[in-house]
Amino acid sequence: MTIKDNLENIKSTLPDHVTLVAVSKTKPVSDILEAYEAGQRVFGENKIQEMASKYEELPKDIEWHMIGHVQRNKVKYMGSFVHLIHGVDSLKLLEEINKQALKHSRIINCLLQIKIASEDSKFGMTPNDAKALLQSIDFSELKNIKVTGVMGMATFTNDHEQIENEFKLLKSTFDNLSSLTSENCELQTISMGMSGDYKLAIDCGSTMVRVGSSIFGARNYS
Ligand SMILES: *Cc1c(COP(=O)(O)O)cnc(C)c1O
Repeated sequence: MTIKDNLENIKSTLPDHVTLVAVSKTKPVSDILEAYEAGQRVFGENKIQEMASKYEELPKDIEWHMIGHVQRNKVKYMGSFVHLIHGVDSLKLLEEINKQALKHSRIINCLLQIKIASEDSKFGMTPNDAKALLQSIDFSELKNIKVTGVMGMATFTNDHEQIENEFKLLKSTFDNLSSLTSENCELQTISMGMSGDYKLAIDCGSTMVRVGSSIFGARNYS
């Protein structure tokens, strides 16, 4: 199966309201171009410098999504071009993104990462902390960011029921927060689901799936 075949198979199963983020981390520019030539325009990376160097080399109509954990001191490397940052988990990080967006006269869209997994290794805010953040005065003063949704990662497990419960928690958190509409907050996106669980995630309300290995093949980290 080629990258194009994989993409077409996956896209044929996605409802119209679901966006496919092709996760190209660790993969070469040639693989991304193959997906691009098959029509894919949305790509996700989890390391800022890797994403920035791919951005330099590739066509400029690609939408780059940062899906990994973001270190504040590296936001500057993506401030000029990043389309959506999925893993925002603090006001401090939002403030840095706002500062870098302002430098480039842009508004950068962000998702709040909610901790839905039981594993300690996963990042994210509690639903209550997310709510408090969105209601704070400090947040209302950030004019160069916009919070457009939530993101979550389920526990790494084969327990289907546990994953389903975690996805449902993200959906209910989204529903609970979505009344908090303001100039820099309008929740419309639920980013959840990866190669192994994106169908379940869509059944639970996902509007954006992040799929890597099912498109590009297994990753080699060595
Ligand atoms: C790597 C990664 C994915 C894609 O994982 P696959 O199992 O290869 O589809 C999705 N989301 C995040 C945050 C990732 O880091």
